[in-house]
Amino acid sequence: LPPVVTIDGPSGSGKGTIAKLLADRLGFILLDSGALYRAAALAALDKSVDLSDEEALTQVAKSLDVHFAVNGGQLRVVLEGREVTDDIRMERVSMAASSVAAIPGVRAALLQRQRDFRMAPGLVADGRDMGTTVFPDAPVKVFLTASAEERARRREAQLREKGVSVSLRDLLEDIRARDAQDMNRKASPLAPAEDAVELDSTGVDIEEVLRRVLALVQA
Ligand code: C5P
Repeated sequence: LPPVVTIDGPSGSGKGTIAKLLADRLGFILLDSGALYRAAALAALDKSVDLSDEEALTQVAKSLDVHFAVNGGQLRVVLEGREVTDDIRMERVSMAASSVAAIPGVRAALLQRQRDFRMAPGLVADGRDMGTTVFPDAPVKVFLTASAEERARRREAQLREKGVSVSLRDLLEDIRARDAQDMNRKASPLAPAEDAVELDSTGVDIEEVLRRVLALVQA
């Protein structure tokens, strides 16, 4: 089987950025598993499926017609033939993704689909349960963290770049709420794999985090 590097951690830890840079550097395929949950959530919202109807949501995940395309070095997400790369990042989709991801049937429906990304020459898998559930045999597992304050500051800077201004306090509250939801749910709660290396990116720049992850891969 081709090698897999798993990068798990809470939102805002920088794992998306690191996973992409690492995949580029290694020439590996990239799996953004959060985008799958987001696409499932968007499909459910589009179909006006009740977000508390576990069976209907599991059906949406089972029949999810989503694929990833690389366009100008950017990963694009295509849902039922429609490009939804930006749509899946909307706040209402983030919230819906977090509830959809808590449903065991949805997680089971997306499991094999995620494993199918394991192709030559190798895979970098970004998510919450890549090292624990989806690729438990991955030779390199990273659990990336950062303090909630640092993650709120990063999010604020990202939004500011897009011309959106939000208070740091509100962002910090959102992050803490999502952390609690992700860590306390019954289905695949956010936690490092036993054999994962934990890296705290608080106050560490991207280049340095990438250097440390590359050192693990090459060890
Ligand atoms: O990482 P991202 O913010 O895009 O993930 C969207 C949602 O999907 C999160 O709320 C997270 O709980 C969920 N998710 C998950 N398992 C993954 C990836 C994401 O439950 N492997």
